[in-house]
Amino acid sequence: MDLALPSTMGTTSAPIIDPASAKPAVVARKATVLYPSADHPVLALNEVDLIVRQGEFVSLIGPSGCGKTTLLRVIADLEPLTSGEVLVNDRSPHDARMKRAYGYVFQSPALFPWRTVLGNVMLPLQIQGRLSAQCEEIAYEQLARVGLTGFEKKYPWQLSGGMQQRVSIARALGFEPRILMMDEPFGALDEITRDNLNEQLQQLWLRERRTVIFVTHSIAEAVYLSTRIVVMSPRPGRIVKIIESTLPFERDLSMRDSPEFAQLAHEVREALSEGHHEH
Ligand code: ADP
Ligand code: MG
Repeated sequence: MDLALPSTMGTTSAPIIDPASAKPAVVARKATVLYPSADHPVLALNEVDLIVRQGEFVSLIGPSGCGKTTLLRVIADLEPLTSGEVLVNDRSPHDARMKRAYGYVFQSPALFPWRTVLGNVMLPLQIQGRLSAQCEEIAYEQLARVGLTGFEKKYPWQLSGGMQQRVSIARALGFEPRILMMDEPFGALDEITRDNLNEQLQQLWLRERRTVIFVTHSIAEAVYLSTRIVVMSPRPGRIVKIIESTLPFERDLSMRDSPEFAQLAHEVREALSEGHHEH
């Protein structure tokens, strides 16, 4: 389902959809993950409750080790729950994965150096058993969406870090996933490249309004991109606060200088330090 409404209904400064009334894409109820270990079991997530609605851009932010990756992996069926429940589009994460509900972007681009850019984006589609011509067509299309037209025949090592990460985003988008999971995708990049990719990701989200669950360490990145920001704290990993963005859906980087942006960043910073001081 496409969440975009006829253009007459949306203005650039007002939400085109109301996420509060959209259907849930992900529901977590008392989601708990205990990593077993003989001497030191780790309670990575403790009874996390969270609803992510279709078309939302939700960021998870919190210090290292607070369970952000674990939560993402549980939703994507890469990690089992110890107790509690997670539903994705009203199904189990396993069923959702079988239906190819997810695209997953990791912190490092994880591209095969012996394959061209095009070959890397085609690979999961080929594994899926699609016709070669179709894989190629989709790969060209996805690379165009992330601004990499003309680079299809290059090898990953011929591209900058930022371009490599765009290749991995194109690869994740190849299945047309309804939910895009991103685990600190821009964490290793310099600030200017990160700004640039943040802008492109914001525009992609605005255009296509897929559900995005995005892990970051950066307050500015979370505020710039998100419709909601989930602040987590460690040991045991849990949600300390959920902050609703007051920014319009359509954003540009200059908004980072606005009082509204500063206020949101302040709220996130406060919640992070509250979570920190509880220990
Ligand atoms: P974050 O992504 O927020 O940094 P993680 O979800 O990676 O946090 O980790 C949460 C906690 O669980 C950390 O204390 C981490 O050391 C621990 N952990 C993560 N994966 C495993 C694992 N496979 N086995 C045991 N402990 C783990
Ligand atoms: Mg992590």
